[in-house]
This record gives sequence, C-alpha cells and structure tokens, in this order.
Amino acid sequence: MGVTSYQKHSMQKIVAVKGMNDILPPDSARWDQLESVVRSLMARHGYQGVRTPIVEPTGLFVRGLGEVTDIVEKEMYSFEDKLNGEHLTLRPENTAGVVRAAAEHNLLYDGPKRLFYMGPMFRHERPQRGRYRQFHQIGAEALGFGGPAVDAETITLAHELWQELGLTGVQLELNSLGQPAERAAHRAALIDYLQARADQLDEDAQRRLHTNPLRILDTKNPAMQALVQAAPKLIDHLGADSRAHLQAVQDCLAACGISWVINPRLVRGMDYYNLTVFEFTTTQLGSQGTICGGGRYDGLIEMIGGKAAPAVGWALGVERVLELLKEQGRASAAPAPDVYAIVPDAAGYPQASALLQGLRRAGLQAVLHAAAGTEPGSMKSQFKRADASGARVALVFGASELEVGAVGVKQLRQADAPQTQWPLADAAGLARHLQSGA
Ligand code: ATP
Ligand code: MG
Repeated sequence: MGVTSYQKHSMQKIVAVKGMNDILPPDSARWDQLESVVRSLMARHGYQGVRTPIVEPTGLFVRGLGEVTDIVEKEMYSFEDKLNGEHLTLRPENTAGVVRAAAEHNLLYDGPKRLFYMGPMFRHERPQRGRYRQFHQIGAEALGFGGPAVDAETITLAHELWQELGLTGVQLELNSLGQPAERAAHRAALIDYLQARADQLDEDAQRRLHTNPLRILDTKNPAMQALVQAAPKLIDHLGADSRAHLQAVQDCLAACGISWVINPRLVRGMDYYNLTVFEFTTTQLGSQGTICGGGRYDGLIEMIGGKAAPAVGWALGVERVLELLKEQGRASAAPAPDVYAIVPDAAGYPQASALLQGLRRAGLQAVLHAAAGTEPGSMKSQFKRADASGARVALVFGASELEVGAVGVKQLRQADAPQTQWPLADAAGLARHLQSGA
C-alpha cells in the first residue's frame, strides 16, 4: 500500500498554536496542587463547582461584556459553525457563561448560590510573559446576594488563597464604580475634561471618547498617564448609598485583618460591573501584575435574560499565580515515588505487578520499571532510573529472590544499607514496614 498524502503530511512536526501552552510534568503537579488548595478553600467557604461549555453563542459576550471592550473588539476567537451557520466564540472569560447557565436553569429559584469554576479561557492577545492566548482562570461567583458583606466575603476568599499558598507582597486595590446614574454624571464630567484636552489623546482614546470614556482611564500609554491622573474621579460622584456600600465592604475587610488601598482609577475591562471593583496586584511579574480581578455585577443576570438579581465575583489568572509562586521560591517539587520496582528479567513482571498492586492499595506510590522494548534492560540502567525517580526504596525482583518467594528491599538514600528481603506474599506487611519509615 502506498503512503497517502495525509500520511506524508503527518511526517512533518506539528506544533501547538502560538500562545497556547502544554502543561507537562513536573509543572503539571503544581497545577494540581493549586487546584486542590482551591477546592478545599471553596468548600470551606460554601462555594460549589460549576462547569460550563467552552464554546458559547457569540452574542453572550457581545451583550454581556459590552461591545466597546478590548475583549469583544479584538480578542475573541469567534467563528461560524460550518454546519449550521451559528456564530460561536471560545469563552474569553467565564462569568457570562455562569450567568447564562444560572438564568437558563433558573438556578436561583430556591435562593442565592455561591459558585466556582476553573478552566481554560481564550483571548487573541500578543503572547508574552503572563499573557497567553489560551490561559486558565479560577473564579468565584456569588449570585443573588446584594449586600456588601458578600463583596467582602469574595475578597476574603481570594486573600485566604494567597495565605494558604504562602504568597506575599500581593496588594488589594479597591474602588467603587457606583450606580449607572452616578456613572452617567461622572461620564459627562469626564468627556468635558477630555474634550478640552483632545490634542493629548491617542488614537484609542479619541475613538473611545464618546463610546467608552471610562476605559480611557485604564490606558497603558505612558504619554497619557499625567492626563488620566488628573481626570475627574468617579469616586467623587458617588451618592450616599454607594459610599455606604464601599464603607461596609471596608469594615468587613478591616475586621478580617485585610489591608487595601483605594485606587480611584481602577476600572475593569468589562462593562458589567457596578459598585465594588477590586484587583489583587504584585510588582513581581513585570507589566502583567494583576493576578486576580473582580467586582459586583448587579445588572448582568437580567441583561443575559434571567430574572434580575445582584451578584459579585472574581477571576484569577492561574498562570500568573503559579509564576508568582515560582518567583517567590514557593514552587513545590513533584512528589517522588515511595518505591521503584527493578525487574532484571521480563519473567519477573507478574510477581512485580502483583506486589505493587498490593502496595498501592495500601497507599504507597509505586513505580514499575519498564522499557521501550519487552525486555527491561540492564540492572545498572534500572538502578540509575530508580535513583533518578527520587524513590526512597528499590524493590528488586531478581531470579534468586523470586526463587525463595521474596523480593529484595534496597534503601536508595542510605549509602551502605544492606539489601534485605521481604516475603512476596506479604504486600500489606511490606507497606506497613515502609510506611513506618524503614
Ligand atoms: P489585563 O489587564 O492583564 O489584560 P484583564 O483585566 O483583561 O487583565 P480579566 O479579564 O479581569 O483580566 O481576567 C482576570 C485575570 O485573568 C487577570 O487578572 C489575569 O490574572 C488573568 N488574565 C487575563 N488575561 C490573560 C491572558 N491573556 N493570559 C494570562 N492570564 C490572563
Ligand atoms: Mg486584558
């Protein structure tokens, strides 16, 4: 049979899409560890997991995030389904998806819900350190809660995560975006201010002047920093209720021993926020210093077609949190096996397999030596592998041991410990022996 053109193409190396990363050992263990810390923390705060589809109707994000946002304007992976013409998008964030799911399944019918998610998000951005096209978020969403105590609860939740991970130097920045009428008053003042200085605006700002002037305050253009610093502040346009809400959030944070700074220029990338907004930032990750961001979004559920209900939440960037852990020397090592099974001759595999099964059932981490071929390879090369695995103990399934119904037990981390024997039939006893530290 001849080589088909498909097979010919498949000979060429295929690499991952730019800005999308493989997560491989030993790094993958750090991901698992972060996720297990998060699961435990979420459970203790009463947050339950949700998993929504990675593909959503494009309209969900256009409506939910706002048409004039970076994400919707230029970062979405949108496509038309070839089979039925539907307009679809790889989710750039998960709040809209969670809210859609809550509305679609009437999740709040029996009261508010505390939810969390973890998973990949997609944004077509210029890849750089801490900024990828497929990246991962972990998020918490408290749906149906209107009071400031729950804003503080979600912030505390994130703060506790940094504590449990041992992260230091993470700063909480807090602001209030007020309510729509307050924003409208501020918007008018801001447009007046910016219009009077139109010659100092860059192209992006010119375009946003009338569509989304608040976003101009978020500019990363160094030439415009002085201009935005001096711009009218939304926080000065807040009414009594909004100010009281912000104060109550701060009271809870203070009671929990959490410190913050008010950043009146803090606006978020999505249009759906009101009242409380916040970010956790670090100076240790260069320009991608925001590890977590969130806020209140009381209008979103109704906007997406659900029954109006208040909500608050945040999302953290997993890659950035892991990078910061590494930066602070907190990257945990991949766990080494307890035992490594050395099998000099392939005939020993049945006994080795059975004993390892018993050890694993007893809770030990046990690795069987195996090679690319059917024969296991020389003793020397097997001991080398055992050593490199980090295992504490090598079990030797040699012919002389197997003949007498035993396995050789060799301590790998004690230079002159003699090799001892243990009965093959007594996996449970051997497990206890090894677990006792022997
Ligand atoms: P930035 O200002 O860095 O673009 P953002 O405001 O767009 O962030 P959010 O949409 O609030 O970010 O997402 C929450 C978190 O997800 C961010 O604080 C960040 O940690 C992470 N994040 C956002 N975009 C990316 C990306 N392209 N690659 C890696 N992490 C990201
Ligand atoms: Mg962004």
